[in-house]
Amino acid sequence: MTSPSPTADDHGEVDTVTEVPVAIVGAGPAGLLLAHLLGRAGVETVAIDTRTREEIESTHRAGILEADAARTLVETGVSDRILREGDEHAGIELRFGGRAHRIDFQDLVGESVWLYPQTAVFVDLADARDRDGGTVHFGTSGTEVLDVESDRPRMRWTGPDGTRHEVRARYVVGADGSRSQCRELVPADHRTQHAREYPFAWFGIMAEAPKSAPELVYAHSEHGFALISQRTESVQRMYFQCDPDDDPAAWSDDRIWTTLQARVAGEDGFRLLEGPVLERTVLRFRSFVQEPMRWGSLLLAGDAAHTVPPTGARGLNLALHDVTVLAEVLVEALGGTDAALDDYQRRALRRVWRAQNFSYWMTQLLHAAPGGSSFDLRRQLGELDNVVSTRAGRTYLAEQYTGWPTRDTD
Ligand SMILES: Cc1cc2nc3c(=O)[nH]c(=O)nc-3n(C[C@H](O)[C@H](O)[C@H](O)COP(=O)(O)OP(=O)(O)OC[C@H]3O[C@@H](n4cnc5c(N)ncnc54)[C@H](O)[C@@H]3O)c2cc1C
Repeated sequence: MTSPSPTADDHGEVDTVTEVPVAIVGAGPAGLLLAHLLGRAGVETVAIDTRTREEIESTHRAGILEADAARTLVETGVSDRILREGDEHAGIELRFGGRAHRIDFQDLVGESVWLYPQTAVFVDLADARDRDGGTVHFGTSGTEVLDVESDRPRMRWTGPDGTRHEVRARYVVGADGSRSQCRELVPADHRTQHAREYPFAWFGIMAEAPKSAPELVYAHSEHGFALISQRTESVQRMYFQCDPDDDPAAWSDDRIWTTLQARVAGEDGFRLLEGPVLERTVLRFRSFVQEPMRWGSLLLAGDAAHTVPPTGARGLNLALHDVTVLAEVLVEALGGTDAALDDYQRRALRRVWRAQNFSYWMTQLLHAAPGGSSFDLRRQLGELDNVVSTRAGRTYLAEQYTGWPTRDTD
């Protein structure tokens, strides 16, 4: 319900006031999937995002969806495009000591993951909101979230045309990503932020080149880590470990390819197929969790509440899992059982901490610590050997990488 007449309070004047049960800050994967799932349950939402649709669609991020996340998108009617255009990957390759070792997910745990870019997940979710008549405002500014300690929280923003809007809701969800403004609304003396920094970053490229391998290749070398991933038949995504202060513009195509080739080189003569570098970025990362994930009428989801290093390919998957749980408990809470929300953090965090451990473990296993000794390098090789040499080691990696069935972490 929208009232077009201007209203004002201590926070200033607004041009429209709308009432919906749930207001959502952030229309990334977490915000949009939540809006979609609530919409299916008959709960109206308004979501806002400071970026335009085009900006989000052109920001390359995650590429791997675990099987449960892919199933959620297909079975809840977001889109079945993933089944037609996604690539099912039944394993990954670990390269170390100059040799390749395949981890066969299907054989070990009977699961696969899907290579399906986050940009495509976003397009599917945004299209589904359009199709279903959901309200999402892109390109907004001046986000304000008010009164979260009451049961009448409000979300305010300015539209691209300069008009100011307010939504009055029963709950506000902060799905506003790793630099979340919403999480700061939990008073400092009531929140705990668990964090770990890493002394390295990823240099990420998009290159116009054929595929060098059919599945993802995670390479350990004395020069540092590299990840060979794919996008299409003619565009590939690759990363290598770099210094967090590296300037992407200082890296020529030649220097990038020489670095990548050195990290994957081995006695089997494996070489990457090269081509023009279309895009280059330095990606810093950290491990982070904020607790609690609920404060009054505010709930946090996705990167707003936790981030993981990208090595384990968990971040997008965790964001989608959070809101799958959150949608369920919000529907119960709106039906009169507010206590249902108490279960959200317990169910979400169990999976989050398992994913934190896995992402941390993969990161330590594969990256060269700056200033590390020959002992450190050889110990890592011993650990990698332990992983690939026994079925138990390979199964552990396969279970963690493909994600845990939701029933196991709830
Ligand atoms: C290079 C890279 C590779 C990755 N690879 C993987 C992978 O393979 N697998 C995987 O699972 N994860 C991966 N991730 C992580 C994944 O991209 C994130 O975990 C995921 O985007 C989280 O989704 P989200 O909706 O919580 O946050 P986001 O996608 O960040 O969305 C948050 C949205 O909120 C908006 N916003 C922020 N502040 C405000 C505000 N004040 N008002 C309104 N809107 C606001 C932002 O514009 C943004 O669109 C990767 C990340 C990177 C950077």
